[in-house]
Amino acid sequence: MGRNLNPKCKQCRRLGEKLFLKGERCYTAKCAQLRRPYAPGVRGKSRGRGRGLSEYGKQLAEKQKVKKIYGLLEKQFKNYVLEAITAKGDSRDNLISKLETRLDNTIFRLGLAKSRETARQLVNHGLVKVNGRRVDIPSYQVKIKDKIELKDKLLKSPSFANLKITLQKQQLPSWIKLNPEKPQAEIVGKPMVGDLTDNVKNLGMVIEYYSR
Ligand code: SF4
Repeated sequence: MGRNLNPKCKQCRRLGEKLFLKGERCYTAKCAQLRRPYAPGVRGKSRGRGRGLSEYGKQLAEKQKVKKIYGLLEKQFKNYVLEAITAKGDSRDNLISKLETRLDNTIFRLGLAKSRETARQLVNHGLVKVNGRRVDIPSYQVKIKDKIELKDKLLKSPSFANLKITLQKQQLPSWIKLNPEKPQAEIVGKPMVGDLTDNVKNLGMVIEYYSR
């Protein structure tokens, strides 16, 4: 699967909002959006951002933001939205489900990776198991009762030495239950709007953008 290789901090600065694409750095004073809160480029400082945007412009900015937060390319993101629109039920709930239950996102939400990109690498490298079997497809959609864990060899590595403490502090969404001792997680429900991270709240605008 292709990846967005644009510099991460520039993506935040272009949209004028923290997208939390770099893990721990995003929570420190080193965050580029805090240090340089204007658009990148020579005219970035003088160029107003978001002022006077049309409704279409606002919807476009919102869909760009959500797409980048989940680290998706246009084609896959658009497919998710179109499937969410045509499926039964509320389109917004359908879209939340499509985005949140991706295996890479689930690993990130569990606190097993600092960013969605790191979570995707863990999955790509075959280090994640679902129901005891290796799954190396980041877009794999987890289902209720699925059990998710990392491979033992990874848990023994020095970079996971403090994992138990990290997991005990992790704020989990309501649809995941975690046993930090093992560690193993179980999917116990469907992601809801209240489970989204603070920077993903306007999925209605994203759906409107693709409904034109
Ligand atoms: Fe965005 Fe700041 Fe994280 Fe860079 S450090 S990716 S600007 S939130």
